[in-house]
Amino acid sequence: MARTDAIVLGAGIVGVSVALHLVKRGLAVALVDRGDPGQGTSYGNAGIIEANTLFPPAFPSSFASLLRIALKQAPEANYHAGFLATVAPWLLAFRRNSAPDRIVATMQAMRPLFSRAIAEHQALMAEAGAERYLRHTGWLKLYRSDRSFAGTARERAVAAELGLPLRLMDVDAARALEPSLAPVFRHAVFWEQAASVTNPLAVTRAYVARFAALGGVVVTGDARSLHQAGVQWRVDTAQGPLDAEAAVVTLGPWAPDVLGPLGISLPLAVKRGYHRHFGARGNASLARPILDADNGYIITSMEQGIRITTGVEFAPRDATPTPVQFERVVPAAQELFPLGEAVEDKTWLGARPCFADSRPVLGRAPGRGGLWLAYGHGHSGLTLGPVTGRLMAEMITGATPFCDPAPYGAERFWAPVAWMKRPHLCGRAIRGQSCDSLTCRSLNGRPRISLRCIRATSSLLADGPHHAFGRLVSHQGGQLVLLEHRFVVLWDRDERALRHHVDDLEAVLLELAEDLRQRDGRHLLEVVHQQDALAVLGHLGHQGFDQLVGLLDLEIP
Ligand SMILES: Cc1cc2nc3c(=O)[nH]c(=O)nc-3n(C[C@H](O)[C@H](O)[C@H](O)COP(=O)(O)OP(=O)(O)OC[C@H]3O[C@@H](n4cnc5c(N)ncnc54)[C@H](O)[C@@H]3O)c2cc1C
Repeated sequence: MARTDAIVLGAGIVGVSVALHLVKRGLAVALVDRGDPGQGTSYGNAGIIEANTLFPPAFPSSFASLLRIALKQAPEANYHAGFLATVAPWLLAFRRNSAPDRIVATMQAMRPLFSRAIAEHQALMAEAGAERYLRHTGWLKLYRSDRSFAGTARERAVAAELGLPLRLMDVDAARALEPSLAPVFRHAVFWEQAASVTNPLAVTRAYVARFAALGGVVVTGDARSLHQAGVQWRVDTAQGPLDAEAAVVTLGPWAPDVLGPLGISLPLAVKRGYHRHFGARGNASLARPILDADNGYIITSMEQGIRITTGVEFAPRDATPTPVQFERVVPAAQELFPLGEAVEDKTWLGARPCFADSRPVLGRAPGRGGLWLAYGHGHSGLTLGPVTGRLMAEMITGATPFCDPAPYGAERFWAPVAWMKRPHLCGRAIRGQSCDSLTCRSLNGRPRISLRCIRATSSLLADGPHHAFGRLVSHQGGQLVLLEHRFVVLWDRDERALRHHVDDLEAVLLELAEDLRQRDGRHLLEVVHQQDALAVLGHLGHQGFDQLVGLLDLEIP
């Protein structure tokens, strides 16, 4: 195969969009999937481009809802009992992120992406000849009880503040829009600006065809073969090994299969969801997706038939399907709409890739030069595919990103570092100056600190979230912070920088890894050869700190 600049791993809507945006910027791109593009999670969604989505999905706030879920009576959520212990840390994090202030913070962090979502789809659809799949008919949300309607009052108030158009409707007004609906609900909210597609698979395929027309190459291969070969990333494909300087992981729920062995472990969970198609009786039809809020399903018209999609199921990604929720919602859907016969024998199962803070990870893989991440789009991957493609392509090619990508960085999962808040390393002296030409001294005039390191620190200070960019291990009041794989800074209790290493860190880690291997058989050598100091520190945890400090010849006062 000819020269390849970037390998995109995973051809769902996200990967296809990233690949297309890269090829449009002149890169030689290979899109690798083990199967046909678009057949993963991106196949079976409800087709909604939720551009005016504001609040992310939240942990149930009432005891009654939780109890219903616990008793497996809730249509909106189900779980495999044996999986609860595994998913518990994620659920707790999800609950923390469902606090009212966090929900608003998430909304603000995600607005730049959601607000461009339709425009970015439209741009790709226009060049891919896929506009026929797009409906600008909004999204209708129905509430069967006053209580469930009242539960969305806050989101509606925020929408009004932001000037997002929505219309509150009574039953007659909603039925004027959708005459086939039975009057089994009490309230309706019409989100006018949402769009939807009539065939998500066809849209993904159209983007793939456009990618190929621009010179992109679609290859069959297993992303799990990804590894570093010198300074390149290599993946084995049906056409032989493929090397490129950049690799982008867009594997949705399967991303951990590739990242885990590379030492990158981010807290992804999956929320499984089901769908099935039905015919419609008589002339019944739907012009837009409908949410039956009290019953936790969406009903929408697709080219394949009337598609009903379910809420979430917490279960291992690859566990046998248990579509009990689906069975629960079908009677409610039959009450609302004159459903005909099922089109397929089986219910489709997909797995939404979700982080507990309802944001995807978009950006560099920490500590792995040339490796990029774009996954974890949760409930909104169809919506956000093209806008993600644009942002990733801008970052990868070094262009100015259309929005600040910081809220989506993998670094947000690192340990919070209180000292980052302190002003004495604010980097005022260096702000705005060239990164390569400067070094500066810490306040006490002792060792020189790498500028890039300080820049990372200062950007965190300016940013506010106070998360370290690297991993932190601490001991006796001292802290070792690794910022990317080339920089190490040790801070003492008074937050003085004691020493930083640039050139010899890898050698030291290699020595340490060999020592660990001999001592307890842990095999870290490969990781170290791949220069992934972050991964090594991840393995070391606190216990390895002493040893590393010794090897680095550092003194802790
Ligand atoms: C029931 C349901 C309803 C939904 N409704 C909506 C909606 O209305 N609107 C919306 O915006 N979003 C919706 N979503 C979410 C959306 O579908 C997902 O967020 C999105 O499809 C994720 O896309 P992706 O490209 O990241 O992953 P995927 O589409 O899953 O793509 C990943 C690709 O990686 C490939 N792959 C996996 N392992 C390997 C390997 N080892 N080697 C090579 N290739 C591999 C797979 O074959 C697949 O093609 C819904 C999801 C579900 C389940």
